[in-house]
Amino acid sequence: MSGASDHASLIGSGRKQLQEILAGEGIAAKEAQMRARQLQNWIHVHGARDFAHMTSLVKGFRAFMTERFTLARPDIVTEQISADGTRKWLLRAGPGIEFETVFIPDAHRGTLCVSSQVGCTLNCRFCHTGTQKLVRNLTQAEIVGQVMVARDALGDWPSTAARRQITNVVMMGMGEPLYNFENVKDALAIVTDGDGLALSRRRVTVSTAGVVPMIPRAGAEIGSALAISLHAARDDVRDVLVPLNRKYPLAELMEAARAYPGLSNSRRITFEYVMLKDVNDSLADARDLVRLVRGIPTKINLIPFNPWPGAPYECSPWERIEKFAEIVNRAGYASPVRTPRGRDIMAACGQLKSESVRERASARHAQMRSAELARMPG
Ligand code: SAH
Repeated sequence: MSGASDHASLIGSGRKQLQEILAGEGIAAKEAQMRARQLQNWIHVHGARDFAHMTSLVKGFRAFMTERFTLARPDIVTEQISADGTRKWLLRAGPGIEFETVFIPDAHRGTLCVSSQVGCTLNCRFCHTGTQKLVRNLTQAEIVGQVMVARDALGDWPSTAARRQITNVVMMGMGEPLYNFENVKDALAIVTDGDGLALSRRRVTVSTAGVVPMIPRAGAEIGSALAISLHAARDDVRDVLVPLNRKYPLAELMEAARAYPGLSNSRRITFEYVMLKDVNDSLADARDLVRLVRGIPTKINLIPFNPWPGAPYECSPWERIEKFAEIVNRAGYASPVRTPRGRDIMAACGQLKSESVRERASARHAQMRSAELARMPG
């Protein structure tokens, strides 16, 4: 949303926020309320890109808005399309603030994988994003903006789409959504609002590496489906793979999972389990896993490890994944093996990474210092 204009973009703002913005421009409360509702509809239901096209608004008001605001989305830096139809966009929110969004089309659904942060703090050993330091949290607008960019590119707005292409949204891109709770929550409120992007709450999934204290809040305040990146059924193994486990060990994580509101056989928690050769893929590991999740309505998603340059692991051989899946399945849990998608464009699970680095304080100071020097009379 850097755009050429220095006017603020209104995308990703909720109705209340729009109302406040209009009030801030001196529009009277009653009118602001009505205009906010109309704007919300044009921006998020129809994906309008220009105030001039908002035909239900009086011309004067359209001009008023054009002079003050934009409807700019995050800039698209690159778009890549995989041989299997998966699409990946590298987006930019400002200088050096780049992040990725992935669309995964299937026969009967289309899943958009959305990022919550630029970089990540978690350092999971098998994850490429984990090798990129956290640059910053994405804002509410940048999170909603990812869905809007994808809808633009896919022609997936009501006026143009014969049938909806993005049917599901998963917060499984870069970052840890529960470490950016407020923005993720506010963004998903717009994504699931009937007067917004109008996706069903049940088709939106928040995925966490296990930020235990935030799980009850996610259940109460976001109310989406929950996925937990488990990857190991024993603390000694998980401590290494997902270092966050040292802070929130399995016993606490499973307690939070059990207490997640609204669980039933039709609303199950997803546990994600990456298959790493000789690390977590033995038959004993499978039995430990089954014991660990006992009693929780769950589906266990087995993810073949997706390689990346310099990764310290290999993917389990196919026969082992099948045997593992069979044990889990026999114990009564669905255990689909996730087909790797978009590997050829580094768009598969755990492969996302951007070049963005956080500007180091020292570098920033040096820059300011030299600017100061330049301003000093010679
Ligand atoms: N931080 C959140 C959101 C990221 S989701 C979370 O951990 O859930 C990304 C998913 O891809 C996680 O389940 C992650 O563990 C998994 N993943 C990461 N690296 C991977 C890799 N190289 N191969 C397969 N899956 C991977």
